[in-house]
Amino acid sequence: MAQKGKFQAIKGTRDLLPPETELWNWVESTAREVFGTFGFGEIRPPIFEPTELFARAVGGETDIVSKEMYSFAENPDLGLLEEMRGYAINMFDLYKENADPGFFILAVSNLLAAVNLRERAGEVGIDSNSRSGCDQLEHLLEKLPPYDWSRPSPTIGENESALLTQIFFRVQLLTFSDRVSLRPEATASVCRAYIEHNMNQWPAPVKLYYLGPMFRRERPQKGRYRQFYQIGAEVLGGTDAPGIDAEVIEMVMTFFAKLDLQGVQLEINSIGHNAPECRRGYVEKLRAALVEVKDNLGEDSRKRIETNPLRVLDSKLEHEQAIIATLPKIGDSLCGECKGHYAEVKRQLEMRGVAYRENWRLVRGLDYYMRTTFEITAQGLGSQNAVCGGGRYDGLVELLGGPPTKGIGFAIGEDRLILSLLEARKEAASGEERPASGRVGCDVYIAWLGAKAQATAIAAARKLREAGLRVELPAVEQKFGKALGQADKLGAKYALILGEDEVASGQWTVKRLADGLQEKMAAGEVAEYVKQKK
Ligand code: ATP
Ligand code: MG
Repeated sequence: MAQKGKFQAIKGTRDLLPPETELWNWVESTAREVFGTFGFGEIRPPIFEPTELFARAVGGETDIVSKEMYSFAENPDLGLLEEMRGYAINMFDLYKENADPGFFILAVSNLLAAVNLRERAGEVGIDSNSRSGCDQLEHLLEKLPPYDWSRPSPTIGENESALLTQIFFRVQLLTFSDRVSLRPEATASVCRAYIEHNMNQWPAPVKLYYLGPMFRRERPQKGRYRQFYQIGAEVLGGTDAPGIDAEVIEMVMTFFAKLDLQGVQLEINSIGHNAPECRRGYVEKLRAALVEVKDNLGEDSRKRIETNPLRVLDSKLEHEQAIIATLPKIGDSLCGECKGHYAEVKRQLEMRGVAYRENWRLVRGLDYYMRTTFEITAQGLGSQNAVCGGGRYDGLVELLGGPPTKGIGFAIGEDRLILSLLEARKEAASGEERPASGRVGCDVYIAWLGAKAQATAIAAARKLREAGLRVELPAVEQKFGKALGQADKLGAKYALILGEDEVASGQWTVKRLADGLQEKMAAGEVAEYVKQKK
């Protein structure tokens, strides 16, 4: 059994290794190429951003923001105070669940003591808002009757209870340090950048794509990681003409076709816009219908009736499927404009020859989507089979403090995309040998022997590499037998044999490793020979 070292990659993260990384690079260069032909340019936003940006954009109520983000305090000294503040808030929650209020009072007193100590030591500068918040808290604490630790859970009178709640609100308002988060997705960053760089003054629409890692603390499983990669694109500004929605979808489908991704299925839907005569009205209808059938729903769905009824439609639970099928459909509740937009998106897709399936249950997990939503699945992925999700988000830039701006985009899960490509290749190559781990491919292995030959070998390696060939040049002398064995292990196609004879005559020996065919040729001919026969 392989011995495990002391350090291992953190759960939910992984090393991407050759030869698989070659596939990753090919996928990424194909994305750049295809997106380029549609007029998109690359943006590389930072990997961490203010937590507040994601909280605003993705939505505080979503799982991503409430529990999946990797967040930390920008300033570690102040971070400790932030943690003490968080602890005090926790203690208040526990008190609300009947724990001793003393824990909460003590946590707040400790927090204030820590603030004072640190300030006195001149370690941290606390802004004036927080300073006055702390002063107010001190006054409020003084109003509480002295706390008696010898009494088990004291009964709390109405006055004290109101005072505790007031203290809690003050604690909530304190902020000591900016919090930052590793990005869980990149749309928020792209919109932030759009505003920051006044891209509304660029020729509209602004078309940007990105690729890179995203971070979500989810339960790791096949196709679901804590560090995963997305390839995405956004169209910002200009009109919301349905032709844009259709072209964006066409672009993803073109990319997938170029990769020869198997079993690609596009599903589309319109989730209308956030107004009483459109989606909001529908959500109320849906909620009422869900209340009727709530006894037959699972616990998660029952909770969502209140918090986010649309997400019930997302349920994968077997026993809920028949019930969901009877619920009112959003298509019947869209306003005239959204209905018209959706109909035109479908027509535009048809004009482009893009095959789609309508799925009225398709909703996006993130809060900011409206109108067109789509999801693409591929084969070989089990239950995590969505390789791309996207949709329109016209209000997002404005929500982040920018001008009213139309927006649409998508994000492809690159890990899943690669997994599907690998599955398909495995099937196609069943029986054939898979490339061994660590193989990066080698066109020519240079087997040299003797000090003079080494100089020739170095010059030969340079020439062959300049010609674009992948060349392995052993750093130390090897007997020819051993060198050829090594070439074989690396999966080299050819061995260039350079011994005393070759160096003296200028006639080099090239051996094809697949069948042992050996030919002599002039030094200058080797690169062309290998390239032609490759
Ligand atoms: P899912 O329903 O699979 O959780 P999602 O709605 O959370 O997806 P989005 O936020 O829309 O996904 O991200 C777009 C794509 O990113 C998904 O379709 C998927 O391919 C990929 N993706 C999302 N989360 C992960 C993850 N934890 N690991 C790997 N890929 C992911
Ligand atoms: Mg998810």
